[in-house]
Amino acid sequence: MRFEFVTATRIVFGEGTARELGTFAASFGKRAFVVTGRNPERVRPLIDSLHAQNLEFTIFFVDGEPTVELVVEGAKQAREAKAEVVVSIGGGSVLDAGKAIAALATNPGDPFDYMEVIGKGQALTIAPLPFIAVPTTAGTGSEVTRNAVVASHEHQVKVSIRHPSMLAKIAVVDPELTYNLPPDITSTTGMDALTQCIEPYTSNAANPLTDALSADGIRRAARSLKRAYDDGNDKAARSDMAYASLLGGLSLANAKLGAVHGFAGVLGVTYNAPHGALCAVLLPHTMEMNVRALESRAPDSDYLRRYAEVAQWLTGNKNASANDGVVFVKELCAALNIPPLRTYGIVEADFPKIVEQAAKSSSMKGNPIVLTNEELTAILAAAT
Ligand SMILES: [Zn+2]
Repeated sequence: MRFEFVTATRIVFGEGTARELGTFAASFGKRAFVVTGRNPERVRPLIDSLHAQNLEFTIFFVDGEPTVELVVEGAKQAREAKAEVVVSIGGGSVLDAGKAIAALATNPGDPFDYMEVIGKGQALTIAPLPFIAVPTTAGTGSEVTRNAVVASHEHQVKVSIRHPSMLAKIAVVDPELTYNLPPDITSTTGMDALTQCIEPYTSNAANPLTDALSADGIRRAARSLKRAYDDGNDKAARSDMAYASLLGGLSLANAKLGAVHGFAGVLGVTYNAPHGALCAVLLPHTMEMNVRALESRAPDSDYLRRYAEVAQWLTGNKNASANDGVVFVKELCAALNIPPLRTYGIVEADFPKIVEQAAKSSSMKGNPIVLTNEELTAILAAAT
């Protein structure tokens, strides 16, 4: 057995921990570059904690998913401000923006040099600015991943800047920050967290350490996502979801994902649909197709046992079969009012192009079995 496991240098989890942000940031210097979403009032106590430590800071607003232009501009401003630490407070887009800004602020030259697919994909040569990640949603796990996803409108794709040095110096996961999230954000980000635990557990790159983490994440998301959706102030459910999201990030960063994320990556750029909503609607149909393909082409596969375990954790029933897990996720999607793909303008005529692109994606390479184009098309049809 051989595996590697990388994560943030320090993970701080717990209710109220984000109010210590000023102390965390001050340990890296006097000047901070704060990246946050459109509404900074939501994170006022965190900004106050920076003031309390007499930090000088610039606030950079990120509205929507980060683009190449946005992170280049952020890196320029961070350099001009002589920032000593980058702090991201927000959802996955804000965390990824800050992570990319921290990397590009210190690494010279053309930003495309460091981008996969559309650029040269060169390794970073200089350590990024220290990066502190404070997620305000429970879903992406971006606080513990080593890549930042940025969109290039010019190329019509999303690509990653990826390097182990981009891992956060501190990930501060405070469930209190998710208490006032609206139900639709709770459901879609939460389904992303669940998917990011199920896909690594059934991926072809799982290891014993990611297994332990993703298994716990599946149990917690299964018991708490609907509760957090029904009552945003259910503290135990919010804590479970914040932790499940962290577990998903730890798992995907050290194992792989699968077909759900292969599709979601492609659909997210072309149709501008929320990532978590795409994962949610695709998850049960992908699980169902994977199980069916494994039963017909790899009946002795360990992955079938894994799908049965997933079902047992989801349902809490020790005798549950893989198919019971599919039924559980379908019912969960219905209870969370997850919309079908056609909501985003996705129609049957688009399927061949989507399948062609998704089949080439890096996430698809982690799927437990290679699905045929017909099988991939059937997943889309079932989710539309
Ligand atoms: Zn995801």
